[in-house]
Formats: sequence, structure tokens, C-alpha cells
Amino acid sequence: MAKGKIGVTSQDLFPIIKKFLYSNHDIFLREIIANAVDATQKLNTLASTGQYKGEIGDTTIEVKLDKEAKTLTISDKGIGMTKDEIKKYINQIAFSGAEEFLDKYKDKANAIIGHFGLGFYSSFMVSDQVEIQTLSYQEGAEPAHWTCDGTPEYTLKKGTKTERGTDIIMHISEDEKEFLEEPRIKELLNKYCKFLPIPIAFGKKKDWKDGKEIETDEVLIVNDTNPTWTKAPADLKQEDYDAFYHQLYPFAENPMFHIHLNVDYPFNLTGILYFPKIKNNMEIQKNKIQLYSNQVFVTDSVEDIVPEFLTLLHGVIDSPDIPLNVSRSYLQSDSNVRKISNHITKKVADSLHDLFKNDRASFEEKWNDLRIFVQYGMLTDEKFAERAKPFFLLENIEGKYFTLEEYENLVKENQTDKDNNVIFLYSQDKDAQYSYIQVAKDKGYDVLLMDGQLDTHFINFLEQKDSNKRYTRVDADVVNKLIVKDETTESSLTEQERTDLAPIFSAPLQSEKINYMVNFEALGENAQPVLITQAEFMRRMKDMSAMGG
Ligand code: ADP
Repeated sequence: MAKGKIGVTSQDLFPIIKKFLYSNHDIFLREIIANAVDATQKLNTLASTGQYKGEIGDTTIEVKLDKEAKTLTISDKGIGMTKDEIKKYINQIAFSGAEEFLDKYKDKANAIIGHFGLGFYSSFMVSDQVEIQTLSYQEGAEPAHWTCDGTPEYTLKKGTKTERGTDIIMHISEDEKEFLEEPRIKELLNKYCKFLPIPIAFGKKKDWKDGKEIETDEVLIVNDTNPTWTKAPADLKQEDYDAFYHQLYPFAENPMFHIHLNVDYPFNLTGILYFPKIKNNMEIQKNKIQLYSNQVFVTDSVEDIVPEFLTLLHGVIDSPDIPLNVSRSYLQSDSNVRKISNHITKKVADSLHDLFKNDRASFEEKWNDLRIFVQYGMLTDEKFAERAKPFFLLENIEGKYFTLEEYENLVKENQTDKDNNVIFLYSQDKDAQYSYIQVAKDKGYDVLLMDGQLDTHFINFLEQKDSNKRYTRVDADVVNKLIVKDETTESSLTEQERTDLAPIFSAPLQSEKINYMVNFEALGENAQPVLITQAEFMRRMKDMSAMGG
């Protein structure tokens, strides 16, 4: 039996591994299972190139718990390892890999939580001892048995395995005994391994008999090896996309529509993004997109990879080209990440534009749920704003939808003022502003409905983009002054009468801390003797500060 010491500068590696990512010990399972998947895929490759001529057989990876022995075992039927390979891959390469990794990141554990980690040595985060029983696929190979108890010393001797593949046997330590509980392991498999490309078995299928749940003899496969995003869009129907959405978010309402991403040059990217229904005034659930790398779950916080407004979308992105072992600031400056992010932004804008062009009725139907997303995107991402301009819709009081261009054409004749500005009139509350809307309509003006959460910001944004358009709320002034064309209308009251009357009407408004105006002008058909207005500028200042700027 060989005894040895791993590496040279290793004295403090194991204690660090144990503490590493304290809040996220559970990634060890992903690391060990990802290795098992790799070993299996390597075997498949060797078989397809003729380098391995043996029978492949069933390559299901097994996850087994033994509560009495306090072990958690991952068994694969992949390429296995010879003694020499263990020395090379486990004692040297894996070890130095882990060492290098810790060296780089031990102070920044939080920045990379959830991203790829330590590899094989992460098993020591939860184990007192780890054993490897393995048999290489190579002809005449001898089984090997490696053990290591969390110090740099290891043993390597002849093993007992009779079938090709590798068992990683983790002796779970006392303070990590949650990993000996079936529900906990199920939960982790569901989080990290749900879409791995090789079947993973854990426990037995359950069934119902005489009103009781019983265990069958059939093994339970916990993953979907062929997830929807890896399939060709031409082979998929709407039901398949909806079903996949519910696989990701079991209790969610159906999404509005989806985008299937599929790029292989100049970077590799697949995935499906869904537009959830985003209602006004509803708590917006950000960060539901899951990031995978070759079907291995990496993280569900993608805010460093896609522009912020896209974190409102749901779904899956899979790219082996996103660097995983890196900090946030690095990610944001990585050119691949930037390309991927730009691509996604463009795809999202293009899909919306296509829907708008191909099926305007359906686009309008979805608009109330889409609007806040598109506005958020336009406000925060200039490129997206450019792309979204042709399909951004305004809704008027009658519930008709117009693009910015269409609307300008509709109103410009009647609503251009003496300085050649086109004035867009709007209401934020159809009911409260009812009489003002009526008066404006009697005057032949059209009134927009701008009652969305982001509308105040958005109006400012539109005015900045286009300096000869103004947005004015219908109650900003008396109707004749909303759009000043040339003449001004005079009140029928005398100067003295106005001075006497004004305080009577304005007194009750003092507490509101906003400048209301009391007007006595004639008001067209629906003439009222007195009209209370709020100057657009003053009101908007107040709105903006209430929204936090
Ligand atoms: P990585 O997977 O990133 O290379 P690891 O530390 O996880 O790093 O593993 C180091 C090496 O050990 C792998 O590259 C592989 O050669 C070998 N190895 C680990 N697990 C297995 C396994 N289940 N079957 C065969 N080889 C394995």
C-alpha cells in the first residue's frame, strides 16, 4: 500500500476548504456529480471515436445514502482511473487546482458563491474522510482505492471495484449530517442537477397503494437529461415551452411569450427566456433567470451577465463561454459577457418588434403587461431604447394604441402651439380627471392615459429625446392655455372680483403643499365658473421626488 503526502504547501488547505463558502457547503454535490458526468461523457466520446470498444451499457449515475455508515456515495460508470491517474489527477492536478482556487478566492468567497468551485476537493467541506474506489476502462486495468482523511496524507492501494467506473464515498462529518437526510439531498439534486445530461438515480419511485404511499422497485431518475432549451425550436410547440416554464417555476402563471436563444458563433449560447406577466403596482420578481454551463446549474443571480431590466425576465441561459470562477467586477468587463449581454438585449428587442409587426392585435393585447418592462429597458439601456422606439405604444383615453410616430401624426395638426411644439395631453387618472378630459375633448384634443408606475419618468425621458414635444397633464391649466396657439382668453370677471374670490377657493388647498391655481376663465361648452389647476412643472417635480428621483 502506498502512502503519500499531497503537495507541499498544503498544511492549511484542508482547514480552509472546510470553512470555505461556509454558507454554501452544498455545492460539493454538484462538483462531485459534475465530475461523474464528465467521466461518463469522456467514455461516450472514446466509444464514438472507436478508442473504447467495450460495451457501454447503462451509465446512470447513482447517488446512495447509508445512514448507518454515515456515507454519501456517488457512483458512475464512466472512464474510471488507474492508480497512476489518481496520483496525477487527484493528488496533483485536482489538488493544485483546489489550492490555486483557494489562494485566489479565499477572501472573496461571497463574490463567487454559486459559481464553479473547488472541484473534487470540495467533498472535504462536508466529509471527515473521502474514499475513491475506481476501475479504469482500459484493458487489464487494476482497481484502485484512495483514501484521505482531511489531512494532506493519503493512502493508495488495490481496490475492490469489479465494474468500470468510480465510486466517490464521502464519510459525512458530524456537523454536516444534514447531508445524510434524503429530503436535503433531493433538494440539492433538484437545485443543481435537474438538467444534467446523464441520468441520475436517487432512491426509488413512489407509488400509491390502498391509499398509502409505497416504494416501488424502480429507481427514480431525478433529472431531465434532455431539457427543452437544448432541443431545436422547430421540434417544439407552444405547449412544450409552457411545460418547461412550469418545470422551472411550478406555481407560476403562464408566461406571455418566449424567446429561444441559439447561438454558436462567436460564442456559444442557448436558452429560453420568458416574458412573465408584469402587472402595474405588483411586486416585481427579479432574478429568476437560471444560468447553466453545459446543463450544470451555476447560479440564479445573473445580474452581472445581463442588463438589469432583463432580470425581469424568467428562464434559462446556458453558456460554457461565461467565465465562472471570477468576481463580479471581472464579469462585467469580460468581453464575452458583454457580447452575450448585447446579443440577448438585441434578441429581446427583435422578438418584440417581430411580434408587433406580425400580429399587432396580439401585441396590443399584451401591451399592458409588457409596457413596464419595455419602459424600464428604454430608461436604462440606450441601445434598447433605440430598438424599442418603433414598437413602443401610447394608449389614449379611448383605449386605442399608437406608436410614437402614429400619435404625433394624429395630433400634430390640432395640438401644435405657437412655438411649434406638439403638445401631448395626458391624464393619470381617468376618473379623477374626468371633467378636465371632457373639456379637452370638446376642444378637439386627444388625451393619453399615462397611469403606469414609470410613466412620470418616462414622460421626462421622451421629452429629453425629442425637444419639440411636450407632455402636459389635462389639469395643468385651463383648456385654452393648455395649448397656446395665439390669442389668450380673458376671464369675464373683473380684476377686483378675482382678487376677492381667489383666497376663498385656495384656502382649503393650502395644506397640500403644492401650488394649485384658481382660475376663473370661461371653459368652453362645459363651462365651470371656477377651475383648480396644477402647473405641470410643479406637479411633476412633486411626482418625481415622491418616486425617489
Ligand atoms: P476538474 O473536474 O475541474 O478537472 P476536479 O478537482 O473536480 O477538477 O477533478 C480533477 C480530475 O480528477 C478530473 O479532471 C478527472 O480527471 C479526475 N476525476 C475526478 N472525478 C472523477 C471521476 N468520477 N471519474 C474519473 N475521473 C475523475
